[in-house]
Amino acid sequence: MKPFTFLLLFCLFAQWAGAQTVPAKSAPATRTITPAAVDSLKVEYVRTQPDAELWLQPGDRLNVRVKARTGLKVSLWNKHPLPELPAAQNKGEAGVYAGTYVVQPGDKLPNLNVPVLVDDTTDLYPYTVFGTASKVTILNPAQPLYGLTQGKMPYMNYGLGEDRLGGAKMGFLDSLVRVQIIGKSGRDYKIKLSNTLNAYMPVQQVQLEGPTAYPGESLTSSWSVTGDDANGKYDYVRVAVGQRLPYTSYLDVNPSRIIVDIYGAVSNTNWMTLHRTLREVKNVQYQQVASDVYRMIIDLKHPQAWGYSVGYQGTSLVVKIKRQPEKLKLKHLTIAVDAGHGGTSTGATGKTGIPEKEITLKIAKLLQQELQRKGATVLMTREADVTFDTMERVRMLKKAQPDILVSVHVNSSGRPEVQGTSTYYRHLAFRPLSQALYEEVLELDLKEFGNIGGFNFALNAPTEYPNALVETAFASNPEDEQRLINPQFQEDMAQQIRKGLERFLKETRQRK
Ligand SMILES: [Zn+2]
Repeated sequence: MKPFTFLLLFCLFAQWAGAQTVPAKSAPATRTITPAAVDSLKVEYVRTQPDAELWLQPGDRLNVRVKARTGLKVSLWNKHPLPELPAAQNKGEAGVYAGTYVVQPGDKLPNLNVPVLVDDTTDLYPYTVFGTASKVTILNPAQPLYGLTQGKMPYMNYGLGEDRLGGAKMGFLDSLVRVQIIGKSGRDYKIKLSNTLNAYMPVQQVQLEGPTAYPGESLTSSWSVTGDDANGKYDYVRVAVGQRLPYTSYLDVNPSRIIVDIYGAVSNTNWMTLHRTLREVKNVQYQQVASDVYRMIIDLKHPQAWGYSVGYQGTSLVVKIKRQPEKLKLKHLTIAVDAGHGGTSTGATGKTGIPEKEITLKIAKLLQQELQRKGATVLMTREADVTFDTMERVRMLKKAQPDILVSVHVNSSGRPEVQGTSTYYRHLAFRPLSQALYEEVLELDLKEFGNIGGFNFALNAPTEYPNALVETAFASNPEDEQRLINPQFQEDMAQQIRKGLERFLKETRQRK
């Protein structure tokens, strides 16, 4: 039987509650489908992996897993076999059928529960059709799909990984950036950045476009590299790219530089004008690193980067670069202090039952006083027991543009013996801040838990200003917790964080 016929059968089936048993050709015409025939197969589940709505392209893998009675013959709609896994290789569980099918050009599944054929190998019925729990669509590569980024802070992830911090983030995008959608997995679209790089974005952050006459790659033009006047805080690199293309960026160290990759851009940059107003940008250059990747390289004057943002003005990409503050003293700077959690987000709790949100607020307020005594301008994310979503905090901070951010939290572990203090950074260029804080906090005679990098914490994600997270100590460790709730310790902790900031500023002044 041709796949087309199966699909027809299946569409019928899809409207039923049960499975469809297909009688053998030789079976008498009077034979009807009996629940017993289906029951005897003992099908517990028929799932795609991941078990979520999927959009696939030719070349993608379709993984299907079935749990049923042992000794059956199971295959996909196109007879691609799903062999029974040996129980020994499957934690002793028999009757699990699994297989991977590579989607071929011409395969068609229009938003369908994938038909899976289960055959009891007797002559009575050749097979019974079951549908996967989730629906699958096979996209037609001849009709590419595009969408525009939308929402408050659209972001891209590397993959579909999930943990309590969310998937590993590749970076944020401006709004109205046109992205090519080449797949979907549950709540995420798969985005094509280049021929060798994909990303994932939450579906609610991409507005699907109708059939688009996509102009293909875009040509870049000349660069304007300029700065604010002498009292300003920023330098700017502008390049017109014709349309809002997706990009990724990062800060490199030794030498200190900003790298921005624009996907789908091709160089027609024939000059770059550097103005005398520049304070932080030392040099600029570009490379066409692949036929569909245009790389901007922006060298900075100072070894310590103070942050940058990337966004569009019209269809010109603008990299806004924060200059190193003129005077590296607390009294000339704005320090953002973030008290972790608050309101309905109570955070970690130890044996005493005192929630993390209370401890972080106390330390943060003491830190605020410490910093104000030194003349710093302090920006608090919260000063009371209020609910303040993490992403909203990030938005607020990006807008406020502090010189430095410190986030204060209390750690927790499933193992009560784990204890100590730790500091965290996401971007390597901001590691010196986290190290300076770590050195000073360790003076409190806390155990070393570590200086931890690449940390996928939302408040460590911004590139706009140096930022670090201090996980003061463990609420889950009785010894640490006793210290955390002690007012004297809270004061000492605030003092050491202030000293850590001063150490960072001093070391930055000394770095050549
Ligand atoms: Zn926390």
